[in-house]
Amino acid sequence: MSNILALARADIIALKAYSHASWDPAFERLHANELPWRAETDRSLAGLNRYPEPHPLVLAQRLATLYDVAETQLLPGRGSDESIDLLVRGFCRAGVDNVVICPPTFGMYAVAARIQGAEVREVPLLRENGYALDTGGVLTACDRNTKIVFLCSPNNPTGNAMEPAAIERLLVALSDKALVVVDEAYIEFSGDRSLTATLSRYPNLVVLRTLSKAYGLAGARVGSLIGAPEIVALLAKVIPPYSIPQLTIEAVLATLTGAQLAIQRERVATVRLERERLRAALATCRPVQKIWPSVANFLLVDFAVPEAVLTAARTAKLLIRDMRSVAPSSLRITVGTPEQNDRLIRSLA
Ligand code: PMP
Repeated sequence: MSNILALARADIIALKAYSHASWDPAFERLHANELPWRAETDRSLAGLNRYPEPHPLVLAQRLATLYDVAETQLLPGRGSDESIDLLVRGFCRAGVDNVVICPPTFGMYAVAARIQGAEVREVPLLRENGYALDTGGVLTACDRNTKIVFLCSPNNPTGNAMEPAAIERLLVALSDKALVVVDEAYIEFSGDRSLTATLSRYPNLVVLRTLSKAYGLAGARVGSLIGAPEIVALLAKVIPPYSIPQLTIEAVLATLTGAQLAIQRERVATVRLERERLRAALATCRPVQKIWPSVANFLLVDFAVPEAVLTAARTAKLLIRDMRSVAPSSLRITVGTPEQNDRLIRSLA
């Protein structure tokens, strides 16, 4: 039995969770100070005049099935953004603890840590080595107050996946010392196996998944924090009750059905094909200096004059992301529809 909760904040372990109104759909509700009538515009199944389920069980079960983990290993939240926030709040003492991040990477790890008052230690990915993880550098940066190492695989904005063996080396070296959080927001586009398959071996592993990318539900805001049941139970006390809106619960349950999932998987396959078509087309464009290998739904591309490319894309009514503050000469291009990708390519010609 691991003692992974020894890493968590003692005051959060001691915290008594908010006691919400009881949830029993078999009864009529005169206990939650709601209005008994729906709004005229309310098209939801359950009625938006009612609070949603405080910790939506059916949603958690459905997500656990989707990701092939036990329900006790999964906490649904408002996107991975909320999962990241819950982790730093649950594990980092303000002014004392620190997290390690590997830039260039997703910006919310550092922002969430700073909001919590945790120090952020940076161990850059090795650009000359295709933005590979610097395992030795990460271990050197960790001390006894390091509570979380955030890894992103496939990484945003570079697009490459980290070697599972390198991540597992960190998990072993940091077992009982720090959580290793692996953000797999883009894994469906890579076709790689999720690290959730190794959860039983590594109690300090937390995997983040989201419905915002491959499942086309960014606007619904649903992410899953997947890890040891003790961690899930602890953070379930930190997440506010009723945090997942009823409209979101209904949208997710309607989308995660067999027929809809088949459509989503076809779309992911289309994105993968378009990614390679876009890569090939960009390779022939004169302003392009380098296209970094990507297994995600975007490409990181270095341009001779990035400013001109940003302007050309805007003229074609397309937004692409300026990454120069974290990666020299680089812009990040999300793979769009075939028509959008064609328009982007034409704008660069
Ligand atoms: N992780 C990564 C790596 C991301 O790129 C993003 C969104 N850009 C997120 C998490 C946030 O995901 P969500 O919409 O689930 O909050």
